[in-house]
Amino acid sequence: ELILGIETSCDETAVAIIKNGKEIVANIVSSQIESHQRFGGVVPEIASRHHVEQMTVVLEEALEQGGVTMADIDAIAVTEGPGLVGALLIGVNSAKALAFAHQKPLVGVHHIAGHIYANQLVADLDFPLLALVVSGGHTELVYMKEHGSFEVIGETRDDAVGEAYDKVARTLQLPYPGGPHIDRMAAEGNPSIKLPRAWLEEDSYDFSFSGLKSAVINTLHNAKQKGEEIVAEDLAASFQESVIEVLVGKTIRAMKEYGVNQVLLAGGVAANRGLRAALQEAVDKEGKNLVIPPLSLCTDNAAMIATVGSVMYRLGKRSGMDLNANPGLDIEKPFN
Ligand code: ATP
Ligand code: MG
Ligand code: FE
Repeated sequence: ELILGIETSCDETAVAIIKNGKEIVANIVSSQIESHQRFGGVVPEIASRHHVEQMTVVLEEALEQGGVTMADIDAIAVTEGPGLVGALLIGVNSAKALAFAHQKPLVGVHHIAGHIYANQLVADLDFPLLALVVSGGHTELVYMKEHGSFEVIGETRDDAVGEAYDKVARTLQLPYPGGPHIDRMAAEGNPSIKLPRAWLEEDSYDFSFSGLKSAVINTLHNAKQKGEEIVAEDLAASFQESVIEVLVGKTIRAMKEYGVNQVLLAGGVAANRGLRAALQEAVDKEGKNLVIPPLSLCTDNAAMIATVGSVMYRLGKRSGMDLNANPGLDIEKPFN
C-alpha cells in the first residue's frame, strides 16, 4: 500500500510517499525559511505564493525519488488543518485535483496527528501511549488509547514552546526560526540565571510559557539598564532548563498516572537536543519506552501526514470532494 502525503500548513511545501504506514519511499520538503527570515516570522501571503510555485515541483520530485507514478498510489492524504488558511488551501486543492484526476481516495489529516505519527516511522506504536507535542503552534500532552483516538489532557494556556523559543531568540537578535540557535547556545552556557518555572495548579497538565518569556526579556532589559553584561549562552541555557524541567516533569507524572506503555515526543521542538536527552533519561529511569523521531521528521514534513493517511485509510476513513482547509481543526475528532 502506497500513500501520497501533502503538507502545506505553514512554510514548508512537502510531498512524501509512505509504504504500509512505516517505510519512507520518498520524502521531499521545500522550505521557505529564507523568504520569511527578513520579516522575522512567517508571512502568510508569501507562504501561499511559495506553495503554489513549489507544489508541482515537489510532487514530481517525490514521484521521481520513489520511482513510482500516480497509478501506483492507493490514496492521497493531505493536511486539512490546523495552520494558515491560505497555505492549507493550496495543499487541499492540490490533493483534491490529484484525487479527481487519478480517481484516488482522499484523506484529510490533522497536522498534529501527523507530528505524533512521525514516530510510527521509527517504531511500532504501543497503546495506550502518551505523546508530548511541542511545536511552533502547539504544546500538548495527548493520551491515545488506540489508533485515531486523541485525548488532550493538557495544553498551553498562552505561548507554545516553539513560539517562546522564537521570541526569546528574537530578543537575543538571532535569526528566525530561533529554536535551533537557542539549542546550540544553551549547550555552551551555564544555567546560572534564575528564571521561573510555570507548574500551574498541582494537578494540572497545562503549560504556560509567556511568563518565562517575559522573565527572559526583563532580565536582558534590566541588565542593559544597569550596564551589566549578560552572557547570552547562560541566558539561553537558563531558559532551556526551565522549559525542559516543566515539560519533562509533567510528562513523567502523566505517564505514571495514565499507566501508558510508551511515550512519544513530537513536533518541531522535539529536535531540541537538551529536551531529547532529558526526556530520554527521565523515561529510562522509570523503565518505560520512549520514541523520538529523527531530526528531519520533527519539523514539518509530509511523511508524517502520509503515515496518518495510511492508518486512516486502513480504518476506512475517506474525505469527500468537499474537503476544505480547516485552520481550527480539533485533534480530538480528526478521524471523522
Ligand atoms: P504547528 O506544528 O504547531 O502547527 P509549526 O508547524 O509551525 O507549528 P513545527 O514545524 O512543528 O511548527 O516546529 C517549528 C518550531 O520548532 C519553531 O518554533 C522552531 O524554532 C522550533 N525548533 C526547531 N528546532 C528546534 C530546536 N533544536 N530547539 C528548539 N526549538 C526548535
Ligand atoms: Mg515550519
Ligand atoms: Fe508543525
